[in-house]
Amino acid sequence: MSDLQHTLNQLRAALGETAVLTGAAINQRHYSDWTGHAPACPAALLLPTSTQQVADALRICNAAGQSVVPQGGMTGLAGGAVPRKTDVALSLERLRGIEEIDSAAATVSVWAGTTLQEIQQAALDAGFLFPLDLGARGSCQIGGNIATNAGGNAVIRYGMTRDLVLGLEVVLADGRVLNLLNKMIKNNCGYDLKQCFIGSEGTLGVITRAILKLAPLPGETTTLLCALPDYASAVSLLRRLQRSAGTPQAYELMWQDFFRLGVSWLENPTAPLSQDYPLYVLFESAGPRELLEQTLEAALEAGEVLDAVLASSQTQARALWKIREATGEFPLRMTPLNFDVSLPIGQIGDFAELCRKRLEQRWPGNHSVYFGHIGDSNLHLTVDCNSLPQPAPILEIEELVYTAVGEMGGSVSAEHGIGLLKREFLHHSVNAQARQAMQQLKDCYDPRGILNPGKILG
Ligand SMILES: Cc1cc2nc3c(=O)[nH]c(=O)nc-3n(C[C@H](O)[C@H](O)[C@H](O)COP(=O)(O)OP(=O)(O)OC[C@H]3O[C@@H](n4cnc5c(N)ncnc54)[C@H](O)[C@@H]3O)c2cc1C
Repeated sequence: MSDLQHTLNQLRAALGETAVLTGAAINQRHYSDWTGHAPACPAALLLPTSTQQVADALRICNAAGQSVVPQGGMTGLAGGAVPRKTDVALSLERLRGIEEIDSAAATVSVWAGTTLQEIQQAALDAGFLFPLDLGARGSCQIGGNIATNAGGNAVIRYGMTRDLVLGLEVVLADGRVLNLLNKMIKNNCGYDLKQCFIGSEGTLGVITRAILKLAPLPGETTTLLCALPDYASAVSLLRRLQRSAGTPQAYELMWQDFFRLGVSWLENPTAPLSQDYPLYVLFESAGPRELLEQTLEAALEAGEVLDAVLASSQTQARALWKIREATGEFPLRMTPLNFDVSLPIGQIGDFAELCRKRLEQRWPGNHSVYFGHIGDSNLHLTVDCNSLPQPAPILEIEELVYTAVGEMGGSVSAEHGIGLLKREFLHHSVNAQARQAMQQLKDCYDPRGILNPGKILG
C-alpha cells in the first residue's frame, strides 16, 4: 500500500468515508481559486465538520509528512488556495454557522466556513453592522477573509479584517488547538498570537472559529463627486473632509482616463460634469449634509475642487457609483492585468506618473488606467494586455510595476495577499532579514512544512 493510501485510510477512519473524497468525486471548484491559476485535482479533499476533526486530520497528515492546503470560498486573487496534485485540500465549508451574537459585547462568534454575506445578514438581523464588505461576499468565507486579512469597501472607516477580529481558534500543523477566543477590546496577556494567523494565508495554522467586532448601523450617507486639479488637492481635500465633514465611508480616486472609460460604459453615457478634469474623487460620508455642503464650499474657494456634484437622491448616488464600478466590466471589455499595490498616501500621485511614464517608454501606445481607495493608501492600476505586443509580456510588466513600488517604499500587495502569484515579487517590499524572520515563524509553527507549502515564502 502506498504512503498516500495509508494516510487516506487513517483519515477515513478519523473523519468518516464521506469526509475524504478523491478523484472525480472532488468538485472542480477545489482545483483553483478565482484566478484560475494552475488548476490541479488534489490527492484528496477533506471535509471536516468540527475543530476536533480538523485537528485529527492535521495530526495524521503531519505525522505522514503529507502537505495540506486549507481552502475557504476559493475567491482568492493570489493563488493561495490552489492545490498541487500531490497536496491534500482541506475545505472549511462544513464548519459553517453563527454560534452567537452578543449584543452587550457587540460581537459575533462564527465558524470559519461561514460566508461573509451570512455574517453580514445575521448582524443586520440583530441591529448591527458587520462592516467587512467585498464583491465576493456571497462565496468567500470568514476563515478565508481572516487568512488573507481582506480589505474591501469600508477600510477607510472600519479598517482591514485584522481590525475586526477579537479572537480566534486555530489548529496548528501538528493538531494542537489554540484557543485564542476573546470578546474583550482590552486584553494584554503577553504575545497576541492571533495576529500571526491573520494574513498568514493558511501557512501557519487552520482557522476554525472567530469572534468578530460589530459596529452600530450607520445613518444615512451622502455621496459627493468632485473634480480636482491635481493629486496634491486629492490629499488636502481628504484631510479637509475628515476634519470638517464627518467620518468618510469611501474616498475613491479616479484618474481622467479611468473616469472617461467608466462614463463611456454607462447605459446612458452622459458625464455628470460638463468638462474633463485631471482627477475625480467619489466621497461618501455619514455626517450631516449641511456640514458637507459647507466643507465643499470652502474647498471650491481654496481651489482644491474645480467642480462638484452632490447627490440629491439615492438614485443619483447609485449613478455616480456606477462610474467607479466600471472595474466589473474590465474582463468583458479588455484583457486586464490588474495590480493591487499600496504606497504612502503622499506619493501615490508620483507613483502613478512614474509608472505611466515607464510603461509608455517600454511599450509606446499601451493602455493603462489608474484608480484606488487612496484614503487607505491603496492604488489599483490595470494594464490592457490587448494594447501590448502579443503574447503580452506579463512578467516584464509585473517586474516594471513592482520595481517602481519597491523604489517608492510601497507594498506589492495592498489587500489580496502574496499566495503564489506575488511570491517572486515579495522582496520588493520585505527585506531579506524580515523574510528570514517570517521563515523562522513558519518553522516554529509548522516544522515539517506541511501547511500550504510554496505559498508566500516559496
Ligand atoms: C469579485 C471579487 C471581489 C473581491 N474583492 C476584494 C476586496 O475588495 N478586497 C480584498 O481584500 N479581496 C477581495 N477579493 C479577494 C477574495 O475575495 C479575498 O481574498 C477573500 O478574503 C478570500 O476568501 P476565501 O474564503 O475565498 O478564501 P480562499 O480563496 O479559499 O483562500 C485564500 C487563502 O486563505 C487560506 N485559507 C482559507 N480559509 C482558511 C482557514 N479557515 N484557515 C487558514 N487558512 C485559510 C487559503 O489557504 C488561501 O491561502 C475579491 C475577490 C473577488 C472574486
